[in-house]
Amino acid sequence: MAICPECESALDFEEEDVDEGDVIVCDECGTEFEVVGTEPLELTKVEEDYDEDDEEEVEEEEEEE
Ligand SMILES: [Zn+2]
Repeated sequence: MAICPECESALDFEEEDVDEGDVIVCDECGTEFEVVGTEPLELTKVEEDYDEDDEEEVEEEEEEE
């Protein structure tokens, strides 16, 4: 049984049933983990990257006549 590294509760899945690239979601804290290896089982936390470069600057051009 794998343990969630974030909240230390048991992750409810069978190690035999997962493959590399599968995503496991912790029922307790909602953190997502990607399976990066199966022998031995290795999980990596899925970080959501917020790209803050993507800000849209709203420039209103006022047309005055
Ligand atoms: Zn957790």
